[in-house]
Amino acid sequence: MLEKSKKLFERAQQFIPGGVNSPARAFKSVGGTPVFLEKAKGSILTDVDGKEYIDYVGSWGPMILGHAYEPVIEAVKETAAKSTSFGAPTEIEVKMAELVKQMVPGVDKIRMVNSGTEACMSAIRVARGYTGRDKVIKFEGNYHGHGDSFLINAGSGALTLGQPSSPGVTEGTAKDTLTANFNDLNSVKKLLNEYEGEVAAIILEPVAGNMGCIPPKKGFLSGLRELCDAHDVVLIFDEVMTGFRVAMGGAQERYGVTADLVTYGKIIGAGLPVGAFGGKQEIMDVVSPVGNVYQAGTLSGNPLAMAAGYALLSELYENPLHYDELEEKTVKLARGLKDVLEEHGVPFVLNQVGSMLSVFFTEEEEVIDFKTANTTDQAFFKAYFHQMLENGIYLPPSPFEALFLANSLTEDHLRKTIEAADESIKVALDNV
Ligand SMILES: *Cc1c(COP(=O)(O)O)cnc(C)c1O
Repeated sequence: MLEKSKKLFERAQQFIPGGVNSPARAFKSVGGTPVFLEKAKGSILTDVDGKEYIDYVGSWGPMILGHAYEPVIEAVKETAAKSTSFGAPTEIEVKMAELVKQMVPGVDKIRMVNSGTEACMSAIRVARGYTGRDKVIKFEGNYHGHGDSFLINAGSGALTLGQPSSPGVTEGTAKDTLTANFNDLNSVKKLLNEYEGEVAAIILEPVAGNMGCIPPKKGFLSGLRELCDAHDVVLIFDEVMTGFRVAMGGAQERYGVTADLVTYGKIIGAGLPVGAFGGKQEIMDVVSPVGNVYQAGTLSGNPLAMAAGYALLSELYENPLHYDELEEKTVKLARGLKDVLEEHGVPFVLNQVGSMLSVFFTEEEEVIDFKTANTTDQAFFKAYFHQMLENGIYLPPSPFEALFLANSLTEDHLRKTIEAADESIKVALDNV
């Protein structure tokens, strides 16, 4: 197993830091060799050794209708033949903006960028430019890409000011990022009162996905909306993961709360490098060249990326049944996994929102924030993960990531996955 992957990983580590171009791929939290993939179709991945897996990562989200989805592949081929980039306006950018506006509540205007990171960095610059304030509130355990402002941990003890979580991020940047607890409105109120008139924006994952899947408690999102209105703060939903996934209109639609700015990535590019930020006209009008908040990109709105994203989003828009089917499949998988875990007497919390799902191996009654997410038994996850992999099930290689289901999953795939889970839990119990 993994013969060629092992060889490639050794070669890769000589010339690429850690052998990977993004750290989550290195299997650091589960150990072992990352699987090098060669191709995929629908929900089936094939690695370089020819082994097949049922995919629950979906490139971390974009593959909501499965890999090598025919309309996306066709659109990319057709567009590529007409040149891969102009650095000048194209019709597909206009169509894309119009389509997003139809699909999502509250997005009057949208600007395309090249990654979710870029989208989130730009959104907070816009919020700062719009409000003339410097500070930003984010939540512990939420991820908004690798922009300096987001690589900040909560200060300890009486210190509410942030500390850089990565070398290379300056203290100067850290002092403008404040950290609150997810699902805890009081922690936000405290910061807003302490820094009255200084906070430009609150940014969050409306459904957390980067500490495992954690839904917002009833009243959390609407409570943030009210606080932002009361304190003239820009509410930013980072929907890089949840956008076009937890509902057509993302978490805004699912929970009936409209943010001032929204960021996108992942699904919007159908697997090509795309991000976007958008929102209320009044705020988006500060963006250059209308306003003077600078933001630009040589490859932004790239024709290949737009054609791919447009093909995927149009299908989701025209056939919203995809969302019902996906949710049904996810509920079925969740039920199967719960039965297996209960049968083996493994303590767990299973969180699911739409087609996102996480199992936390914990004695806690609920997982609602960073602290409770961290009670998950990582050694047990590790053993479970590797046995699932051997059984041909490709899970996210970390206990703090959500599974992303695709509508290309069949009844047969789900049944095989539940059977594999049954066997893998047994093995994990014997080994831990
Ligand atoms: C993936 C992700 C990002 C970063 O997007 P990249 O395209 O990896 O830069 C930002 N926010 C959330 C919620 C994400 O899941």
